[in-house]
Amino acid sequence: MSTVDDFKEDFFALSPDIIGLVSLDGYFSYVSPAIYTVLGYTPEEFISRPLMSYVHPEDINLLLDEYHSFITGKKEFSIATRCKHKDGSYRNIIWKANPKLKNRLICTIGRDITDVVRAQQELKSFFNLARDFMCIASFEGVFLQVNPSFERELGYSEEELTSRPFVQFVHPDDISSTLLELEKLKVGVQTQQFENRFRHKNGQYRTLRWKVYPSMEEHRIYATARDITELRKARSELEIKVHERTEELSKSQAFLNSLIENLPNMVFVKEAKNLSFIRFNKAGEDLLGFKMDELYGKNDYNFFSKEQADFFTEKDRKVLEGKAIVNIPEEEILTKYKGTRILHTRKIPIYNTDGKPEYLLGISEDITELKLAERERIKVLQTQAILEERERISKREAFLAETSNILTSSFNFRETLSTLAKFFIPKIADWGTITIKNEEGKFERIASVHEDPIINKRLQEISKEFPPKPENDSLFMTTIEEKKSSFFPIVTREMLAERIPDKTLLKVITELGCYSTIVVPIVNRDKILGVITLNSSRTEKRFTQEDFTLAEDVGKKTGVLIENALLFAAAQLAIKSRDDFISIASHELKTPITSLKLQLQMTKRSIHVETGETISAEKLVKVLDVSNQQIDRLTALVEDLLDVTRIESGKIRYHFEELDLSKVVEEMVNRCEDHLMASGIPINCELKGPIYVRGDRYRLEQVITNLLTNAAKYGEQKPIEIILKEDKENVSIDVIDHGIGIDSEDLGKIFERFERVVYHQNISGLGLGLYISKEIVQAHHGSISATSDKEHGTIFSVTLPKAKKQ
Ligand code: ADP
Repeated sequence: MSTVDDFKEDFFALSPDIIGLVSLDGYFSYVSPAIYTVLGYTPEEFISRPLMSYVHPEDINLLLDEYHSFITGKKEFSIATRCKHKDGSYRNIIWKANPKLKNRLICTIGRDITDVVRAQQELKSFFNLARDFMCIASFEGVFLQVNPSFERELGYSEEELTSRPFVQFVHPDDISSTLLELEKLKVGVQTQQFENRFRHKNGQYRTLRWKVYPSMEEHRIYATARDITELRKARSELEIKVHERTEELSKSQAFLNSLIENLPNMVFVKEAKNLSFIRFNKAGEDLLGFKMDELYGKNDYNFFSKEQADFFTEKDRKVLEGKAIVNIPEEEILTKYKGTRILHTRKIPIYNTDGKPEYLLGISEDITELKLAERERIKVLQTQAILEERERISKREAFLAETSNILTSSFNFRETLSTLAKFFIPKIADWGTITIKNEEGKFERIASVHEDPIINKRLQEISKEFPPKPENDSLFMTTIEEKKSSFFPIVTREMLAERIPDKTLLKVITELGCYSTIVVPIVNRDKILGVITLNSSRTEKRFTQEDFTLAEDVGKKTGVLIENALLFAAAQLAIKSRDDFISIASHELKTPITSLKLQLQMTKRSIHVETGETISAEKLVKVLDVSNQQIDRLTALVEDLLDVTRIESGKIRYHFEELDLSKVVEEMVNRCEDHLMASGIPINCELKGPIYVRGDRYRLEQVITNLLTNAAKYGEQKPIEIILKEDKENVSIDVIDHGIGIDSEDLGKIFERFERVVYHQNISGLGLGLYISKEIVQAHHGSISATSDKEHGTIFSVTLPKAKKQ
């Protein structure tokens, strides 16, 4: 059986430790192969040099001391030295040696502890350099080892700290908890986080947070601690602040909550995604009849009809999309107990920090009562308005009836309009005027009235001073030209200045006061007959639309009145001229008849049947001539009368043919010449011909005869000229006399029927000749006119279009 001795060599070879024999001369006599692994030398290499040559110079003395102790009899030693590796580095080797002095040898085993030493050194430097507290303490509560942080941070030396139980440094209030923690450690419970206050040498306490690991085998504890005094302080300050803030927040939250809860309006919040309710206040609960718990997490479709829920949802979506408040002035909602209510709702989107809508806030006010009251009020107002309207209408009707009464009270429209103006003022306006277009077509101010008697007096003076002239008042002008009413509830100074160009008149009107104006035309069948002007002299009185309508109605009514009055006047005038005509006609007809009768009587008287006496043939011829003349005259008068009837009934017949007008005139002059010459009236002709016209010879002769006869009748025996002139288109016959002439105002009348402007005792005539002549000339598409003056006499001009081919 083999023994250990048999494999000694193998053991040496396998050993990781260096096994060696050192001679007393300081050389290894043997070294195991491990030397190569540890120090990089082969055993042969290693033993070739003395041991001391491998030892670190600082460790040589230590080794020599040990060596000498052997000599003096020490049995065994263990020493750590640094030995030089072949690569130049040093390795920590712990040598155990046993001297065999008898053999002059030392048996030694070297173990490479380089890694352990390095780890220890690292640990130590970590221990020393750490800012945190690090310590080792016994289970009895005494520090065994403390790192420099203790001294640095707490002011005690290591000795002071390790010389007494550490609880003596602990704040009295924390001692019991510290001891309790120690007890826990003793039974193997690790301390993860424990805080206590340690007294600084200066008497102040620092708060340390401990992490402790108990080593049951070693009966000691390994602890690290961190000074968290500042952290604590900061944290407690923060905590105070947080606490205060929280308190504040919760206060304001509570305030807000109580505000929301006590708000009389329904407040609800829906989350944006599903529009389900997440908040609902008491007013909302009372209104809808649902409790917050019932509503929470549900949406409108759980409580309302589809139609209603659709409506609400659509609005909600709009709010969330639109990013703005949506105001729903009126919406109906069916509640659980209160039936249908009317709400005024505002919906607002609420955004998260990303700017996306997260909630929808709604505030609804129950306006049912308000709305009902409003509806009631509207009803009342409507009824009131109807009543007022009726009253207004009846007042208006009464006013218009009174106006009608006034307007029909008399045929004297001047008087009537003056009464009307007085009725208007002050009923409608403070002052006003009525202007009409009179019988002569001129504007005549019939009435000017001011409610104030003193100012009224002044107004009368002004009215005389400033007779109505359209150009003096642009509004007056517009009214006349456009037959248009004007209504200015407010009249400013600028407007007035623009309206009245005459500075003096403007001043007067401004003095009278004109702050509101109505100007209406007096019209009848589109014919302007006058203007009514109503003014307010007070700023506080403004005309209303109603006043305006009333004034317009009155304008129309007045128009009818004036038209009727004018017609009446014209009719009266017509009657009068007809009467005049009848008397003239009777006279005119009677004259030749009387003359004829006289001739016949005279002739009869000259004949005496019993004596056989008779009138001479010569005398008889004379009588018959005179009688013939009278009969011609009678025939002419009757012919004129018949012509008038024909003209009026449109039965006058014309036989148009192409005529040389110069010839016709010449013939007529010749025909009249004898008669004119006999009367001692010279006649001069300027006739150039031929000048052709299309005309009725007989009728044109009638015109020329009439003009020549008139020139003779009214020409005071002075010469008569007849001139024929032509231009490219027309031919004109001028009959000129130097007689009595015609007043300019009568010139327009002479072509009218029955118009004899001057009743001459000894000049006969029915006043029909010019009327008939005008009708004839017009039937020939021509014209007739007269120019006259009392000094030079009269020129009658007949213009006719020339025949197409000459
Ligand atoms: P009368 O038969 O009266 O002449 P007319 O119609 O011919 O009727 O004339 C109307 C009126 O016109 C006359 O009554 C007369 O007053 C006026 N008149 C006409 N011709 C002349 C004239 N040449 N000179 C002055 N007055 C005239």
